[in-house]
Amino acid sequence: MAPEIVVGKAKPSRNTDLYSLAVLLFYMFMLNHPLEGKLEASIRCMDVFAMNKLYGTDPVFVFDPNDKSNRPVRGYQDNALIYWDLYPQKLKDLFVQAFTVGLSTPAKRVTENKWLETFANMMSEIIICPNCGAEVFLDESKEALGVAHTCWNCQGVVPIPVSIQIEKRRIIINQSTKLYMHHITGDYDMETVVGSISINPNNPKLWGIKNESTENWTYIKADGTQAPVATGRSAAIVKDAKINFGQYIGEFK
Ligand SMILES: [Zn+2]
Repeated sequence: MAPEIVVGKAKPSRNTDLYSLAVLLFYMFMLNHPLEGKLEASIRCMDVFAMNKLYGTDPVFVFDPNDKSNRPVRGYQDNALIYWDLYPQKLKDLFVQAFTVGLSTPAKRVTENKWLETFANMMSEIIICPNCGAEVFLDESKEALGVAHTCWNCQGVVPIPVSIQIEKRRIIINQSTKLYMHHITGDYDMETVVGSISINPNNPKLWGIKNESTENWTYIKADGTQAPVATGRSAAIVKDAKINFGQYIGEFK
């Protein structure tokens, strides 16, 4: 329930729904309520006054970057502490927006489109740990700082594989990666497969993208020479090479 409803200043609206959506998502990702940290742990009697303060008049996000008074308590709210660090900074930034400025300013809450865009990006940017096979989210903020990704499961260093960049969308290429319609067109269709990874039977180090769409693609080598990639054929995954999908062009990086 949004703070303005808790204190009786507003009725349910699109903005209060966006608050509830953010709480639900935080619960799903962190298995903890976004406002239940040290302040909740220290309440002896959870009466209506305590609840009003915690969720209405004085809410503090458990990971508020500027107010550490409500951090999760170890041994009591461990889920939040364990899960928070698994996710990329761009997801954390949305939760910070939702539960800092978004607590007091309903118009600044995170929209459903922004959540959708971020989740689609996260799904496309999973790195498979080469040591243990665990899934690790790419974190561009670490990449920008030159900080290595480490595996949450085996603690090993996880190198960033080659990826294909199509407009704003980056797709990390693992052996099991599928290219979906969304990756090419940005339409959020993450079910229609248009490409898959193929491995050269004579040289397992040579990977390609197999055209599983009904359109013909054009492969553009780094030197500019072009070759057709018909349906069912593969294009070699080589840094700086490009694929023209028709409306959009993807580049291997
Ligand atoms: Zn691992």
